[in-house]
Amino acid sequence: MLLGALDSNWISLGPHVESFEREMAAYVGVDSAAALSSGTAALHLALLLCDVGPGDIVATSTLTFAATANAIRYCGAQPLFIDADPATWTMDVTRLEDALLRREANADKLPKVVMPVDIYGQSADYDRIVEVCRPRGIRIVEDAAEALGSTYKDKRCGALGDIGVFSFNGNKIITTASGGMLLSDDTELVARARFMSAQARDPAPHYQHSVVGYNYRLSNLLAALGSAQLEVLDSRVARRRQIFALYREALGDLPGVALMPEASYGACNRWLTCITIDAELLGVTREEVRLHLEKHEVESCPVWKPMHLQPVFAGCSCHGGNVASQIFETGLCLPSGSSLGDDAVDRICTLIRRFAGIP
Ligand SMILES: *Cc1c(COP(=O)(O)O)cnc(C)c1O
Repeated sequence: MLLGALDSNWISLGPHVESFEREMAAYVGVDSAAALSSGTAALHLALLLCDVGPGDIVATSTLTFAATANAIRYCGAQPLFIDADPATWTMDVTRLEDALLRREANADKLPKVVMPVDIYGQSADYDRIVEVCRPRGIRIVEDAAEALGSTYKDKRCGALGDIGVFSFNGNKIITTASGGMLLSDDTELVARARFMSAQARDPAPHYQHSVVGYNYRLSNLLAALGSAQLEVLDSRVARRRQIFALYREALGDLPGVALMPEASYGACNRWLTCITIDAELLGVTREEVRLHLEKHEVESCPVWKPMHLQPVFAGCSCHGGNVASQIFETGLCLPSGSSLGDDAVDRICTLIRRFAGIP
């Protein structure tokens, strides 16, 4: 397919973009999709298409990657961060509702959009989020960048809000080196996303523009790569879940070690296997474990640092307690690539067990 794209000379424009969009929409179960240059670009356009602008508020999960919150800032809007639910690590809907009730009581402006994040592939609880947002006319943008192949009840992640967003960045479960997708059942809205992503060029023989556009379209070459990757997605999800199960088997009995819980309402793609470490019980801290692995050339990394603790978002309000910050303090993402062998997982687990003095 890639060679076909090269041979046909359709490097930039060409038929693979459209077919990749159709395949993604069919896989996720939505009417329409727009292939874009990154997940961040897709989040930015999604917010613009919800008419988010200066002075507006967008509520989002504090436990996420910076791209989620940056997209809010690109629109000139203010993020309102919501703490994580300890049972799922996703947006705590009770906290969200509480934040909205308080704003209503104080006659403060409500968020125009709620943007939950399906963190580490785990779906947020959309039925409850819809219940809180619909009556207030708040739109929902699902940041499913990490959750391709995950499910919520009988639906797939990416199909759960008014707009869903995926990333095909190099670290994600399937990749086009860089790329993203915006999906919705609103076909007109998706057509508008395509228009905006191609410099908002009006239909005219000359170059005519009536609104500010962006250079956010995915190239034909990368779309061909995406289609090929989509074919192996299900096997990758199966392998990542297997890797998670191996870690659970080998580490689940350690005192103070817990694996990221799985919500009862869906299946997580287990993009990354994350654990938390209670240093008092295990006898070593998360950071000591990370450095020990690093010494043995095993790369692990702390869980996302919450947005309300980031210098760039200092001063933004955060609603909740210290759930996300606790997960950050104690959380570690273990090597989880689909190509990781059983023996490699075994070796990592042995390193951790020995380091904690447990045979
Ligand atoms: C990767 C990621 C993004 C951004 O996607 P890019 O394709 O890297 O721009 C957005 N949100 C989350 C939660 C991500 O993990």
